[in-house]
Amino acid sequence: MTQRIESSDYLLSSVLSPEQELIDIRISNGMIAEIASAGSLTPGASVTIESAGMQLLPGLVDLHTHLREPGREDAETIRTGSAAAALGGFTAVHAMANTDPVADTAGVVEQVVRLGREAGYCDVYAVGAVTQGLEGLALAELGAMAHSMAQVRVFSDDGKCVSDSLVMRRALEYVKQFDGVIAQHAQDPRLTEMAQMNEGIISAKLGLTGWPAVAEEAIIARDVLLAEHVGARLHICHVSTSGSVEIIRWAKARGIKVTAEVTPHHLLLTDSLAETYNPIYKVNPPLRTNEDVQALRAALADGTIDIVATDHAPHPRESKECEWSEAANGMLGLENALSVIQESMIENGLSNWKTIAERMSYAPARIGRVDASSGHGQITKVGVPANVILIDTKIRRKVSEMKSASKSSNNPYIDRTLPGQVLYTFLRGEMIVANGELVRPL
Ligand SMILES: [Zn+2]
Repeated sequence: MTQRIESSDYLLSSVLSPEQELIDIRISNGMIAEIASAGSLTPGASVTIESAGMQLLPGLVDLHTHLREPGREDAETIRTGSAAAALGGFTAVHAMANTDPVADTAGVVEQVVRLGREAGYCDVYAVGAVTQGLEGLALAELGAMAHSMAQVRVFSDDGKCVSDSLVMRRALEYVKQFDGVIAQHAQDPRLTEMAQMNEGIISAKLGLTGWPAVAEEAIIARDVLLAEHVGARLHICHVSTSGSVEIIRWAKARGIKVTAEVTPHHLLLTDSLAETYNPIYKVNPPLRTNEDVQALRAALADGTIDIVATDHAPHPRESKECEWSEAANGMLGLENALSVIQESMIENGLSNWKTIAERMSYAPARIGRVDASSGHGQITKVGVPANVILIDTKIRRKVSEMKSASKSSNNPYIDRTLPGQVLYTFLRGEMIVANGELVRPL
């Protein structure tokens, strides 16, 4: 990744470290230059940021973002999506491969990375498709993508499941050569034909075709066994059921190299929202039950689920302002992810900011094998690139459609009051977000 170095020096005074110590931090020439106890650094030539009492976190890393470019620039572009990411506190995102054309060649993944650099709001890493055209049949050019300028390490047919066992086995074997990982969208296609929402009491009541938990769990069970058999790394996208958590816990105890993610929306929202018939709540995998939500929260707290990933999925209005059965799956996630985590994990005492730094920065950067020179996913200490964010955790704010950088508005949190707001985002010392606004507006 190119280094973007700004000459400005900044003093962040009296901020709370992830460990809840009050500290001063100086950013100079793109790096963390000094850290000392609060009140001990003097401004000198640095610009002082009014940051007393704000929560400092390392820049967040999203392993699962849909930026829609190339092909669906009416829903999102790499520019608008990466700006939304920066506003949400992300300094790096991984753009999913289900674009048009599909990111299944070196040419497309290099284009995605290049457009991310040109936009300059955060680092954009490309996820490569596992199979050509996401068709689930023949492997894509995994090696060419890995060895391209984009240095792809995460491969996924997300949106679709790699359902053929032999294709999945071959993919797992192949990516071992360059320490890649297969990120599986676990959904048995036969068990979810025509599925509209979680299969349960509410789907029966509404008369909507159900999406059974077993459709997710059966694929995860198969894939952890395949990963064990070939000794490869497997990552499970958007885990949504308590049964999936149990399988992953078993696999980890067995020493299988599996990691897993959960989305903010699966930590907060439940299938009872389908009763509104508002397609804004239609998503893949579907919102599940309160019991699932509680199991997912516990799994994220204890590390059975390694990371939070947004599955930011923009859709144009016409794909969402229609009947439930016709609507597209997916919801926006980048700009409110951290607030949802504060609400669902911090304020109820299930977790703390030190653990969230691990789940939303260090661990996703590790799983994605992000290059060390980028500074992503590194503990904030002297000598590392200054990818840091500042959050006002005391704010309560009503989520507004107007404030979004995304081109789409399928935000399930509109009009909901959420805690916390990202006020500053620094990417290798460059101030990208200040006072909750983009320094370089779109
Ligand atoms: Zn998916």
